[in-house]
Amino acid sequence: MRILIANDDGYLAPGIAALVQACEGLGTVDVFAPERNASGTSNALTLHQPLSLHTAANGFNYVSGTPSDSVHLALTAGLIPKPDLVLSGINNGANMGDDTLYSGTVAAATEGHLFGVPAIAFSLVEKGWQHLDAATRVARRVIEHALAQRASEGQGTRPWLLNVNIPARADADQLAWEVTRLGRRHASFPAEPQRNPRGDLFYWIGSAGAALDDAEGTDFHAIREGRVSITPLQVDMTDHARLPAWQDWVRRR
Ligand code: MN
Repeated sequence: MRILIANDDGYLAPGIAALVQACEGLGTVDVFAPERNASGTSNALTLHQPLSLHTAANGFNYVSGTPSDSVHLALTAGLIPKPDLVLSGINNGANMGDDTLYSGTVAAATEGHLFGVPAIAFSLVEKGWQHLDAATRVARRVIEHALAQRASEGQGTRPWLLNVNIPARADADQLAWEVTRLGRRHASFPAEPQRNPRGDLFYWIGSAGAALDDAEGTDFHAIREGRVSITPLQVDMTDHARLPAWQDWVRRR
């Protein structure tokens, strides 16, 4: 068993060490992660400058790029054998609803998935690493259960992609798991202008909006109810429901 681990908070983040710990005894673990915090970089690849790759004293490899760069290098540069599983996280903060689009944590897992490897993204719902130890135990159980699932699937089964959000609670490993769909949230709050000490004007991107669709069955709802949320994701962004209407529109041209 070979497991590739990445994140978006950077190779020094407590969450990635926790995820490595969660995999203890499951197989050979390779870590490829961004050198710096690259949260919110989505699926970005660095195409206009080269990437440097270094190995830290603890064996973690760090890349001067994005989460997707890190997984992409690990999978395509001939550095390691192809992994059986790609893991990302544990992220410092939730990745639910619309934010899965911006998430570098989800993107790192997606990069593995795009290369035909089943992948799981893990996020700790509150920022600040509270109860990371309990979240690590949850991650361990999810990984074990997912590996058993993978072993029971036939060769050539389409690799899946899971997005797991874990409540930041001391009893997280006692909580129920719920398979969910992504909720939706309101658009972000306005960007905020701010002057530096020299009077120059800058802007901060506004914080994420409040939940809009947090109905039963969504990731938001499961988390609010104190459950571990597991959302199966796919890459196809086609608006299937509106496909016939647009086909009509083209026909009327
Ligand atoms: Mn992050």
